[in-house]
Amino acid sequence: MAKSTPNFYESVQNNFDKAAALTTIPKGLLDQIKVCNAVYQMRFPVRIGNQYKVVEAYRVQHSHHRLPTKGGIRYSIHVNQEEVMALASLMSYKCALVDVPFGGAKGGVKISPRKYTQDQLERITRRYTTELVRKNFIGPGIDVPAPDYGTSSKEMTWILDTYVAFRNGEIDAAGCVTGKPVTQNGIRGRTEATGRGVFYGLRELLNNKKEMEALGLEPGMAGKTMVIQGLGNVGSYTGTISQDEGDVKIIAVSEYEGAIYSEKGIDIQKLIKFRKETGSIVGFPGTKKMAKREDALELECDILVPAALENVIHKGNAKKIKAKIIGEAANGPVTSSAEEILLKKGIIVVPDMYLNAGGVTVSYFEWLKNLSHMRFGRMEKRFNSQTYLNLVDQFERMTGKSVSEKEKSILTRGADEIDLVRSGLEETMVNAFQQIREIKARKKRCEDYRSAAFVNALTKIASDYMNMGVFP
Ligand code: GLU
Repeated sequence: MAKSTPNFYESVQNNFDKAAALTTIPKGLLDQIKVCNAVYQMRFPVRIGNQYKVVEAYRVQHSHHRLPTKGGIRYSIHVNQEEVMALASLMSYKCALVDVPFGGAKGGVKISPRKYTQDQLERITRRYTTELVRKNFIGPGIDVPAPDYGTSSKEMTWILDTYVAFRNGEIDAAGCVTGKPVTQNGIRGRTEATGRGVFYGLRELLNNKKEMEALGLEPGMAGKTMVIQGLGNVGSYTGTISQDEGDVKIIAVSEYEGAIYSEKGIDIQKLIKFRKETGSIVGFPGTKKMAKREDALELECDILVPAALENVIHKGNAKKIKAKIIGEAANGPVTSSAEEILLKKGIIVVPDMYLNAGGVTVSYFEWLKNLSHMRFGRMEKRFNSQTYLNLVDQFERMTGKSVSEKEKSILTRGADEIDLVRSGLEETMVNAFQQIREIKARKKRCEDYRSAAFVNALTKIASDYMNMGVFP
């Protein structure tokens, strides 16, 4: 029986159990999939000014059914072992779901990054990396970190540089971490990847006629109202791309400093600029400040996108949620007990392990780029372009009609790295959605998207274990 107020790790386990009961995977194998294989808890000293601070940090490798293991590193004062275990577990399911051939892992450093200077953050990051190297917890074929809450491409550069200092001459060293800046062996499109993936995932659901009928909505994204909680990397890109490419109307945004609302819609790009200049979203022209930042979650809207941290929709506020769809851009924003309430209300919850998988998908592309030592598109771009040009010329000769220079340049363009990354990401998100939908439609008693996603992920991981010969 599920506890009434599960913590994040318990929520993940409750969800696992609910879905596991829908499969025929043997119990012993389910037990193996569920546990975290390796938990590395560390404490290390860092000099801050003329004092020393002991930093608490973690790296958890949840599953080794595929290698390397993969997952971000979080910098937050709320980091604790169970949180990192929950996040590492989700990474395994996420990767399996979108056919990214990695096991799941996650790291956490228990600090409040705002309280440190760049120099101090660099020292903490380099020391954390050193600990990982010492215990063989990092490497392109072992375990590959990436950004997460509180970290960005900047930390990834420090990680790479520290790793390389220890592993001089290792030819694939650049693949020891992803989410690096493009100039430092990163890939175009990685920074926006999670938000872009959220957009593709929501678009797939919203284009589904049957699902929209059940919610009493017209199919399609255009004109749908959206509320975003958290304007970090994921929330910002989800908002910008949903607005620019999906014509969604963002009616409220909630952040650390408060929540704002506008029935007419909020231009997210302008809001991000405003926040950079003033340090706050509050006071953005044309918007009203809401009494409490949590109030944004309870607004009437088509799509609610929690894009910050776990457990924001819990038993205490689930009854008050009026959104028709919840798109989990963050990891674990809905507790398992809240989800029971939401599902009874007929709300569709699009689960984190699917919806925010765009980040790790493009991380996979970056890792492949690092191992191949070459940018995607470099070999074929010009060749393809020339082939298309020959076709257009032939068309002109055969028909006697001429194609304008502008049209010609569109028709004969070869794909760049960014085009290929976006196309690969879109294909991944569309494919995974179809797989989940199919399971949800086919499997008796599998009534929600999270269970269907879990069933899919568990089946794939179980099959890997069986192929290893570990389980008969
Ligand atoms: N931190 C991201 C996530 O939770 C990305 C992980 C990665 O790229 O390895 O999915």
